[in-house]
Amino acid sequence: MIRQHAIDGRTLVAAVFGDPVEHSLSPAMHNAAYRALGMNRLYVALHVRAGDLEKAIRAIPALGLIGVNLTAPHKERAAEIVGRSSREAQMLGALNCIVNRNGRLYGDNTDARGLESDLRRLGVRVRGGVAVVIGAGGGGAAAVLACARLGAKQIVIANRTTARARSLARRFARLGIGGGRITPRGLDALTDARVLGSAQLVINATPMGLVTRRFAPLTCELTPARCFFYDMVYARTPTPFLRPALQAGRRCADGAGMLAAQGELAFRLFNGIAPPRGVMQAALSRALGRRSRAGPSRGELQALSTGGEPQ
Ligand code: NAP
Repeated sequence: MIRQHAIDGRTLVAAVFGDPVEHSLSPAMHNAAYRALGMNRLYVALHVRAGDLEKAIRAIPALGLIGVNLTAPHKERAAEIVGRSSREAQMLGALNCIVNRNGRLYGDNTDARGLESDLRRLGVRVRGGVAVVIGAGGGGAAAVLACARLGAKQIVIANRTTARARSLARRFARLGIGGGRITPRGLDALTDARVLGSAQLVINATPMGLVTRRFAPLTCELTPARCFFYDMVYARTPTPFLRPALQAGRRCADGAGMLAAQGELAFRLFNGIAPPRGVMQAALSRALGRRSRAGPSRGELQALSTGGEPQ
């Protein structure tokens, strides 16, 4: 096994800014790739509070950080602070990466591409069908874009604050994304048979169930048997969003695969080189106590939900 390059005066540093950030699995993924490539680089988690975000971003060139990932709650505010960014980041109105290009900052967002890649890996089909996205923040925007790219014919955005869902739907309509078939709704859509009855994919892009003890009422049984439930949140055990879907016999995955895929894209942006195939996913799986791939198998999910052994 290749060991971590000794940290010395030449070590280059990348980071993730978040509040909280201690839980972040990005250091495990990125440092595994640095080790595998024998690069004298290090990735650290930095606790940056919302009030300090602008100062922290402006300090990136002075400190010589090669790149920074952004996690909650910084993604949307970072887009206002960093002047130059990719078209995709502008579409999403949020950044999850900032690259230091010789002292000039460049923003990007790899969340939609990461989610799209994971949904393809999982064999989720939504072309010509209905997708329901719960949440209208940065993650919700990425989910809507990924569903539009996968060919969904109708996308329902269900959000606690309906005005925010409307504003996201309008933004995508202005950009010509979603073919005018993005419908903003409140969380009542999650018990509406007219919405769920034809859903092929339901994505959670909120921290509900983690920040609250329960997920909003959602009648999984109203969805067709082939409907796929995807939670952007990931955890050692099935999340409160996925548990009832598993019990209803629906196919499910959590956001670990998306995290690995967006991380691989960010690694390439920061370092100009792709991480070795599977190394970041394997590091993430180890950090989550899983067997091999980033996403738990159905057997592992079921075993985790019942406390038994994976089959
Ligand atoms: P965000 O921009 O802060 O948006 C949060 C969303 O969650 C909003 O739609 C908000 O609704 C909703 N929400 C928050 N608390 C709620 C509650 N108690 N009840 C109902 N709705 C609630 O956050 P984000 O960046 O989109 O992230 C959302 C989740 O996705 C986070 O848990 C994040 O960790 C996860 N995520 C995972 C990945 C990955 O790679 N796996 C990538 C991105 C995000 P309102 O508009 O009503 O406030």
